[in-house]
Amino acid sequence: MNHIHFVIKKRGILLVYLWSACLFFLLSNSSLANTEQIILSAEEKSFISQHPTIVLGTDKSWEPYVIVTPDGGTSGYDAEILSRINQLTGANFTLSAGKWSEMQLKVKAHEIDGLSTGTAAAERASYLNFSTPYLTLQKSVFVSTGNPLAIKTPEDLQNKTLVIQKGNLSDIKLAEQYKNTHILYVDTVEELFSAISTGAADATFGNGATLYLANKLGMPYLNVAFHLPQQLDLVFGVRKDWPAAISILNKALATLSPHEKVRIQTTWFSAQSLSQIKSKKNGLTLTSYEKNLVDKAPHIHMCVGPNWLPFTSINTDQTYEGVTADFMAIISERLSTNFTLVPTSQWSESITLMKEKSCDIITAITPTQARTKFLNFTQPVLTSPIVLATRQDQFFITDLNSITDKPIAIIKNSAAASLVKQYYPQLNIVDVASIKEGLMNLSEEKVFAYIDSLEVIAHNVSKEHYVNIKISSTLPIEFDLAIGVRKDWPEWVPILNKAIQSISEEDKRKIQNHWIGIKYEKGFDYSLIWGTLVVISVLIFLVIYRYRVIAGYNTKLEELNQKLAKQAMTDQLTQLPNRYLLDQEIQRVIASSKRYQEPFSMVLFDLDYFKDINDKYGHQVGDEVLMHVSSEMGRATRDADLLGRWGGEEFLLVCPKTSLSGALKLANKIRVHLAQQRFLTGKKITLSAGVAEFGKDENYQSMLKRLDDSLYIAKQSGRNTVRYSETSNENER
Ligand code: GH3
Ligand code: MG
Ligand code: MG
Repeated sequence: MNHIHFVIKKRGILLVYLWSACLFFLLSNSSLANTEQIILSAEEKSFISQHPTIVLGTDKSWEPYVIVTPDGGTSGYDAEILSRINQLTGANFTLSAGKWSEMQLKVKAHEIDGLSTGTAAAERASYLNFSTPYLTLQKSVFVSTGNPLAIKTPEDLQNKTLVIQKGNLSDIKLAEQYKNTHILYVDTVEELFSAISTGAADATFGNGATLYLANKLGMPYLNVAFHLPQQLDLVFGVRKDWPAAISILNKALATLSPHEKVRIQTTWFSAQSLSQIKSKKNGLTLTSYEKNLVDKAPHIHMCVGPNWLPFTSINTDQTYEGVTADFMAIISERLSTNFTLVPTSQWSESITLMKEKSCDIITAITPTQARTKFLNFTQPVLTSPIVLATRQDQFFITDLNSITDKPIAIIKNSAAASLVKQYYPQLNIVDVASIKEGLMNLSEEKVFAYIDSLEVIAHNVSKEHYVNIKISSTLPIEFDLAIGVRKDWPEWVPILNKAIQSISEEDKRKIQNHWIGIKYEKGFDYSLIWGTLVVISVLIFLVIYRYRVIAGYNTKLEELNQKLAKQAMTDQLTQLPNRYLLDQEIQRVIASSKRYQEPFSMVLFDLDYFKDINDKYGHQVGDEVLMHVSSEMGRATRDADLLGRWGGEEFLLVCPKTSLSGALKLANKIRVHLAQQRFLTGKKITLSAGVAEFGKDENYQSMLKRLDDSLYIAKQSGRNTVRYSETSNENER
């Protein structure tokens, strides 16, 4: 921006002229100017403007043609070819990955617009037009390792069983050419490989991608038996009534050079690509100079953001947690060096300590011009979109320059503040000290909007149950979260970079899934449990992110926000109502119980010895068991009652219009039902429960206290039991 202003001053007239020319070009061409762009006919252009996205269905199990990434997007050979086509034509072909057989039904029903990763099968010609081939593969017959049945020619397939994936028309057709063979149909590629390895089938057809896939799935049990003369031509198919789409695809495919096709092919199909990624995992090699430096390093003092979950936070017990804490733990381990946390209570305080060199490194920091005065930066550890949140009742905002008159809160001294000031200098920015303050001001209408990281906003909106806040815009800039290193320690930057690079994609994913998923309380402290739950998954925002440049952007934001609202009330692990929703319901039931003089009871459950499960089998298994337990408890619950997750492994059952004796029966029914189940660990799980009926002169708090007390007594009495508390009604004593 600044740069452009500067140039305009210098060569004003010429540039104004050039700008107008560009503008004219842009307007006349409706899509982005691109030197490589191919020439489209008027018909094709109008097709693109009328069909801003063209969705091609594809097979989610057909890697590496299509790789469904953990965030729900797609990559792989087809995705890369399509992205090149989009670049060349200005169209937007996207992939939707699912079950192959279902994808074909969806095209017929016009739920999607075409298919990728398919052949020009005659059966499909009634509803699809086909492009020229975008990939040609050699067909081969694959058998189990060592070829135990000595299958070497087509004749050897007689009386053998071939396994084929349902809906794979070209393979089905091929199989039918072999007389006297049996065909076993399976749904997924995994089933296909396992049929071969278990001997349920003797052979299958495959191509260049088959071995890649088998290795990837950890089933390297295949060998090529022999090659077939058939070649497999993969084409794109688009619904019959959209012929312009095909001519656009063909023009683009003709423009791609053979060299480029080969490059894309080797990227995705080479047997090495996957193993290379894997072997990188622990490849951390320091030079002897670096090693020496690390070995001799004094305590390294680390500043962090104290209040920016899910990325970074300092706990009440002065420990560091969040996504970046996990990353730093790995880095510390790999470098065999210790980082000593320097606790702070605000981000700006951490920055100040860093300037004063009271800290040597600072984590989860976005490089900005101003910060380079006192910091060097590593490469980003991760990135996060910057978004704008408003109250529910606002419209979605496509242009930030349209809201320059409204106050917008941003955390003081944050990277968001300086980035936004740089890109949108006209905005009316209000400093806040923390996200808490920002969202509170937003919720209370003291500001119009709040700008921060998407994950951080989602986390806090869910945690604080701000049902009146939504995401209204994603900004075209994002946070790069790097490690900042004090300026006089430049030799640490390459060391830290090596450590960052040594963290595998898989580990990164695991860490993010852990944090951008559920968070539970570790203790028995009821007062603290206030639903520190839920965050929106990376999945949704990446979809939004991808869609922000195309039409349909608002609908996507709409969906994101519906999820946000639902997530604010649902426990993500168990999908039960969370504490927030329970709380609302209890207040409602108390009011109605008072008004209509009806009884009302509640049951508080706590699983017995649940900690042992985590200790013995790990948290992941603990989580699975918790999901299973909650669904079993739900099954034993009446429709009129509300079962929710109160915290950790505690559940609360709200029973309107139910007396103590009724609630006792229910509690015991659930207890007995649970004790009859077997779980992942092969063991039984029991629970203890406290029951109480709402007393005439009582309030919410005192009833909770009685539930808690009776649960405590149940635990003291040996667990797997239900105890109750007499109604606390002064007048009846
Ligand atoms: P008891 O209640 O019978 O006294 O024993 P306990 O072992 O269940 O003890 P307590 O209720 O104090 O501890 C609950 C434990 O449950 C703590 C934590 O390890 C585990 N836990 C709580 N929430 C979750 C969760 O979401 N996932 C997993 N995996 N474990 C959880
Ligand atoms: Mg507990
Ligand atoms: Mg327990």
